[in-house]
Amino acid sequence: MIAMSETLHIIDLQVAVEGKTILHGINLEIHPGETHALMGPNGSGKSTLGLAVMGHPGYDVIGGRVCLDGENILKLSPDQRARKGLFMAFQRPMAIPGVKMADFLRHATTNIRNPERKEGEELIPMRQFRRELREKMEQLKIDPEFARRYVNDGFSGGEMKRAEILQLAMLQPRFAILDETDSGLDADAVKLASESIAEIRGGEMGLLIITHHERLLEHNIPDVTHVMLGGRIVESAGPELAVELHRNGFDRIRANHPVAAEQELASTEPKASATLSQTN
Ligand code: ADP
Ligand code: MG
Repeated sequence: MIAMSETLHIIDLQVAVEGKTILHGINLEIHPGETHALMGPNGSGKSTLGLAVMGHPGYDVIGGRVCLDGENILKLSPDQRARKGLFMAFQRPMAIPGVKMADFLRHATTNIRNPERKEGEELIPMRQFRRELREKMEQLKIDPEFARRYVNDGFSGGEMKRAEILQLAMLQPRFAILDETDSGLDADAVKLASESIAEIRGGEMGLLIITHHERLLEHNIPDVTHVMLGGRIVESAGPELAVELHRNGFDRIRANHPVAAEQELASTEPKASATLSQTN
């Protein structure tokens, strides 16, 4: 039997942003090698869940636990969580002008492989790193020039998503949260992203794919599909649920879950959206 402790276990997680409760008790269990799809209307709390699990400082956990290896990771810094094998590809990744993709990836990859490493200690040898990077870029059909550009600086939407997938390929995390890796991509690019994710995930990686498109799931058939509404997971089922939501939208979900639907209405009152642009 696989030790239960290898599961990513989210228990009754409640999260507030700027004093307002966004997540009202999320329960989710992802075992190694499983793919879960997370769907739901805009503003339902999908990104909030990912960011809270990763430890984004703007997202206050006001209740519940997130356990990995049986350990509650909520007391760990985002950096320590990453070293434990958690990864998130952001819906809107940040630019880091002045830091080249290759340098960023070499640091990140070293830290993940050698979690005890202190800043200033040795990195993965350059030749080995370059070879690995080149292999992954070829596999993902990414232009080698990419490695010399500054992280996400002036990247198109599609390039940012490819950069996130390249990170995923290099870091080989144990659990990855992919937040709308399909947003802003055309159909061909989504297909390529879907294939790329399938190729790099390997046998043991657990995936939580936040998406509106069946396309991204085409090569990553979810073991479980969850629907979020008003900060709650209101339904979980097989891949057929993803197909239904993609076809028919969320009206049936709202009708079947009136409490969450009311919560959704309450949270879509007018608010300042300018502060959201970099974080969600
Ligand atoms: P989704 O990813 O499902 O579209 P989000 O998690 O981005 O939803 O947002 C859920 C709710 O939390 C929304 O009402 C949103 O306005 C609010 N929210 C999320 N992040 C922030 C933030 N950084 N500041 C203020 N409100 C936020
Ligand atoms: Mg989102």
